[in-house]
Amino acid sequence: MTDMQEGLRHRLLQELECPVCMEYMVPPIMLCNNGHNLCCNCRVTLEKCPICSGPFLKVRNLSLESLATETLYPCRNIQRGCTKLLTKMTVKCHETECAFDNQKCPFAKISNTRCNWVGSLDTVRRHVERNHKGSCVQRVSGKFKTVLHNVSRSQRYYQAIITLDDLFYVSWRVHSDAFYCAVFYVGPQENASEFKYRFSISTKDGDCYSLSAVSHSYFENVNDVVRQGKCVTIDYSDVQRCFTDNGDLPFRMEISQI
Ligand SMILES: [Zn+2]
Ligand SMILES: [Zn+2]
Ligand SMILES: [Zn+2]
Ligand SMILES: [Zn+2]
Repeated sequence: MTDMQEGLRHRLLQELECPVCMEYMVPPIMLCNNGHNLCCNCRVTLEKCPICSGPFLKVRNLSLESLATETLYPCRNIQRGCTKLLTKMTVKCHETECAFDNQKCPFAKISNTRCNWVGSLDTVRRHVERNHKGSCVQRVSGKFKTVLHNVSRSQRYYQAIITLDDLFYVSWRVHSDAFYCAVFYVGPQENASEFKYRFSISTKDGDCYSLSAVSHSYFENVNDVVRQGKCVTIDYSDVQRCFTDNGDLPFRMEISQI
């Protein structure tokens, strides 16, 4: 962008700021008798123009509306360092997954456990290492064996895993007649598809169930991942065949780069 274009964009953003709520206006943009603009949310709460006390018109500012749909807006985390410029349509979507935005702890977000911590994406790992020591393991290799104890219907298990120098959050659950294993990558959403995971179990007779899937993003909803069948899913009756005599489920897992 040239200096002139950048200056013009700033000028336009100033024009698009609603004088009442200070948010950027999106169509419909309302007008008063003297040509002042107002967002429609504020318009319905006011009797007359907040700038000149003039009456409102029933017409909209179509030329400003059309500029509003084309201009590039900064992310709301601009003060925290986000430099993204996006259209009004895409900026809201970006903001929900912006690395500079406040994020919830994955234990709260994915497993609904009680943790009120919030912080930027790059500080999640440090928080998990410090505050969830009992449910966080560091693994030199992405390949490991472990056990789920006393597996039964409606049971949920979870663990944070630090491997390949990244933080992953694994959720295992039994729901209805299926067993689910999902690995969430806790980092920028666009990097989640760079990893895959494999979940393998064996019966005493040596039958093996081994399935793999692409890692899910921490920004995805865990219930959607399960409901839409995106994660590893095995019939619960097959999983039961792999139980030890104590009802434990030994399994092998591998998280790897694609
Ligand atoms: Zn407003
Ligand atoms: Zn006015
Ligand atoms: Zn952002
Ligand atoms: Zn936490």
